Amino acid sequence: MAGRRQSSRLSKQTLSTVSEPKSKIKRDLLSTYAYSDNQVHSASHVSESSQVIKHARPKSTKVSKSTNPAGPPNDWKSVYEVIKEYRKIALAPVDTMGCERLSEETVDEKTSRYQTLTSLMLSSQTKDAITAAAMRNLQSQIPGGLTLDNVIACDKDLLHECIKSVGFHTRKTDYIKATAAILKEKYNGDIPDTIEGLISLPGVGPKMGYLTLQCAWNKNIGIGVDVHVHRISNRLGWVKTVNGSPEDTRKACIALEAWLPKEYWKEINPLFVGFGQITCLPRGPRCNACPVNDLCPSAKLTSTIKKRRLSITVQEALDNKSDTSKKVVKEEEVIADPLSW
Ligand code: SF4
Repeated sequence: MAGRRQSSRLSKQTLSTVSEPKSKIKRDLLSTYAYSDNQVHSASHVSESSQVIKHARPKSTKVSKSTNPAGPPNDWKSVYEVIKEYRKIALAPVDTMGCERLSEETVDEKTSRYQTLTSLMLSSQTKDAITAAAMRNLQSQIPGGLTLDNVIACDKDLLHECIKSVGFHTRKTDYIKATAAILKEKYNGDIPDTIEGLISLPGVGPKMGYLTLQCAWNKNIGIGVDVHVHRISNRLGWVKTVNGSPEDTRKACIALEAWLPKEYWKEINPLFVGFGQITCLPRGPRCNACPVNDLCPSAKLTSTIKKRRLSITVQEALDNKSDTSKKVVKEEEVIADPLSW
């Protein structure tokens, strides 16, 4: 909504900037979008909360891989590098509150891994700031702190109270409780170090599994494709998958892994998540301010100002017996809203 309001207030001055050559826009935008931390925190544009977690069918723990005979898309490297440069100064919520940053520095490695998994379980359908707050609640309010044993011993109502602000908190409370028991019984109190083991846990899917392996075990065996990575990859024309089900996300993951070099598999998630939080928004992407709008097939730029003239004829003035000498003309600018698609 903030983005829409901002757009509707675009002034003539702003639009004159938009009409400048793309190279000029590109030159200027890094400074334009050098968000401060406070701005970033107040600009949580993630709209995943409206989405619904579908009841899962019995989970398969097989993760399929395939190759892409079509090869990598043209210009992907240029696009990627421009976005990467842009994101170095265009900070986003994920940069300070992403899941890999939420475990405590003072805990042992095993507990740190458990906290990372927990933060990822909380993060689905939830903004980063809300996930971070819930993690702080767990770390400070569970007697003894956020460890596997303490979660097992913890009263379920207290657990729920700590995470009640995250999406699907009731179900996640059950998942966290059940997962803790499984980890204790089957994994010696640690988290699994395989994708099969991770996605066998309640509430953990492939995206979460790959991110957990990267953040907790430093294992890079797959791309964590979330809604942002999925949406942006499609808009850039890198993959062609709709986004109606978890299966579509998995297809996008397979399609990307088929050509994206492995060294990018870990960094693409926070890179695109942040890009999706501040620029390539789910609704109303800010294409005019986007550093790759000249390379993106989905770019929608405001190039014209539509004008509408609303005339109030002199008749109205005559009826009111007021000023009869002037025809009142009101000109209204209706700005083509780049944020409305
Ligand atoms: S041009 Fe628009 S749709 Fe394309 S990546 Fe940039 S913000 Fe997203």
